[in-house]
Amino acid sequence: MTDFTYEVDAEGVAVITWDVPGKSMNVLTREAFELVEGYLDRALADEAVKGIVITSAKKDFAGGMDLNVLASIRAEAGDEPAKALFDFTMNGHRILRKIERAGMDDKNKGGKPVACAINGTCAGIGTEIALACHRRFMTDNPKAKIGLPEILVGLFPGAGGTTRYSRMVGAMAASPVLLEGRMMAPKAAKSAQLVDEVVAHDELLAAAKAWVLGAKDADIVKPWDVKGWKMPSGAPYHPAGFMTFVGASAMVHGKTQGVYPAAKALLSAVYEGAMVPFETALKIEARYFVSILMDPSSSAMIRSLFLNKQALEKGANRPDVADETVKKVGVLGAGMMGAGIALVSAQAGIDVVLLDQDQAAADRGKAYTESFADKGIKRGKTTAEKKEALLSKITATTDYAALADCDLIIEAVFEDVGVKAEVTKKVEAVIGPDCIFATNTSTLPISELAKASARPEQFIGIHFFSPVEKMMLVEIIKGRETGNRAVAKSLDYVRQIRKTPIVVNDARFFYANRCIIPYINEGIRMVAEGVEPALIENAAKLVGMPLGPLQLVDETSIDLGVKIAKATRAAMGDAYPDGAVDEVLFWMADEGRLGRKSSAGFYAYDEAGKRGLLWEGLAAKYPVSDAQPSLTEVQHRLLFAQVLEAVRALEEGVLEDIREGDVGAILGWGFAPWSGGPFAWLDIIGTPYAAERCAELTEAHGARFTPPALLVEMAGKGQSFYARFGAEDAAA
Ligand code: NAD
Repeated sequence: MTDFTYEVDAEGVAVITWDVPGKSMNVLTREAFELVEGYLDRALADEAVKGIVITSAKKDFAGGMDLNVLASIRAEAGDEPAKALFDFTMNGHRILRKIERAGMDDKNKGGKPVACAINGTCAGIGTEIALACHRRFMTDNPKAKIGLPEILVGLFPGAGGTTRYSRMVGAMAASPVLLEGRMMAPKAAKSAQLVDEVVAHDELLAAAKAWVLGAKDADIVKPWDVKGWKMPSGAPYHPAGFMTFVGASAMVHGKTQGVYPAAKALLSAVYEGAMVPFETALKIEARYFVSILMDPSSSAMIRSLFLNKQALEKGANRPDVADETVKKVGVLGAGMMGAGIALVSAQAGIDVVLLDQDQAAADRGKAYTESFADKGIKRGKTTAEKKEALLSKITATTDYAALADCDLIIEAVFEDVGVKAEVTKKVEAVIGPDCIFATNTSTLPISELAKASARPEQFIGIHFFSPVEKMMLVEIIKGRETGNRAVAKSLDYVRQIRKTPIVVNDARFFYANRCIIPYINEGIRMVAEGVEPALIENAAKLVGMPLGPLQLVDETSIDLGVKIAKATRAAMGDAYPDGAVDEVLFWMADEGRLGRKSSAGFYAYDEAGKRGLLWEGLAAKYPVSDAQPSLTEVQHRLLFAQVLEAVRALEEGVLEDIREGDVGAILGWGFAPWSGGPFAWLDIIGTPYAAERCAELTEAHGARFTPPALLVEMAGKGQSFYARFGAEDAAA
């Protein structure tokens, strides 16, 4: 059993079929290149073979590179990992170039046509192999997608995809595919020239074979192998090319703020490659690719956004309990969260009972799914029939009896212990003995809420983020008495709705909110100190946070901040550390500046509610100091505020797995994705430096930066978080 098979048909077409044993999706393993080359040599040497078709025996064509391969190459290379990665990359180039040249001589004569029959989704290296072929045929199945999504995990296409595709369409036109990693349906892929022909699924192989048999010499010569070739839309020193690269460079910097090395390296590879012959361009691409593979940011991103995210989605921390797939879910409270939870559950094919206090409220919740589907119809993403099918999954009601045969309940009523307790009792009076009860509370301890339940082992937290249909993280919170079956049920449900779960223990604000609140507070505290608000916001964005702390509190609303501050103060008493923050927050609330919802907050908004510049009036109350801190000082304050909280959560056992801490941080609140998450960031800067910086920040700004004992201990030993707590084979 090997990854590829080889067969020559009666008409002399050699078909190389990709079919990795034991996997549902083809991924490129280390041995695969060798195999492909062997078959290619055989086909080129065999006079009976007129041409070659590369295809797949799976439902899809290929999922990309097995990212563990890169990790193992590096791990085995001893002192010279960069050289090993470079040699590996160049060997890949050599083989793909062999496909492309297909036995042609210097005059571009005598080669054998190679077509690619892309029978389903095709990503990463699969697409790069296809791009090396002379013609690409793709199935007309609209569910099949093709693209080069490497940039999304901190890499860029490094097997010639960058050089080939930018030379095919020009740097600007290549940008959605290369820089945004957009995956395209067959028709769009044809417009983007990723494929040449879209063919009915069952005629795909025949069409590719027919083309191979009819292809002329000129049909198989790539434009860059013809004398006098010029880069489409201009090489860098051509006036049009100059404009393109100036624009692209600014665009990349604007989007990445300079913190994603892969995007910049990609652009450099295209720019420098455009000025030299093709083979040299491949070498340049390889050098940039290896520099990215060696960058700690890309390893951290691959680890968190690909390997660990996938591991968590597959149930890495699921208790060993039989299948708990949800068939019918009861959603209590049809407000903002309940409506979203009903929508994503129905989308997953789960029957939903959506219950509220009165029928009008329940109907409003269901109408959210209707308007969501209507928008989808307008954009051509769904149909009227599918909308009806979706709506038929949701029953909007006020009748508790309708919950009787639900196997999971998710409660999303008002954030009030009394209301939640009353609802819990009413529900437990009607549901079956096996039903699991989950609460979507964001601030109330699960173990407290479980007191209202007659079966606390079946009581759990399933914490969604808003807006439910967009946010990919779901936090599952175990109360003191929560049992394994409740955890398994929650994880199976999250898998059904195709989101990423983390499982944490019960503590104030669980994990995500616990870390994000200190970030917001640190920003507000700096306002009170006289730090220029624009410096605070820009420092956050320049270190890769999606929103500055002041914009974030405007979005989530200042009165919510006030509510949380009051509750926290009540719970902590004298130990409450955020008085300086509250002064600003309470004053803003008194001024009626509640954030986006009141079109007035730390930012100014126009009449249509569009956010403008930072609010100038703030300086009258909190004057900007003459002496301003350095950018790094502000960034360290904002990052350590979050990261130390993550370490404390680990130390206290709220987090049980640092993979969850990192994946949860990126998906939950957008923690600087380039870093791979809070723990990955600490590993990048090194625990000794982190502990030293915290000591300095404590001295300058106060005890909240005191490094937790765990960090101090690790710093003393020079330990990294992934070496101490990570799964060994997870790093790429
Ligand atoms: P919301 O006010 O929009 O909706 C609450 C709904 O519950 C209302 O429709 C209300 O009529 C209904 N309700 C109240 N009492 C009820 C009862 N006794 N029986 C049936 N229905 C009742 O609130 P929301 O923003 O959707 O929040 C709901 C829950 O989700 C809260 O616990 C909140 O903390 C949590 N949460 C909110 C967010 C967020 O961003 N808004 C995020 C995560 C979790």
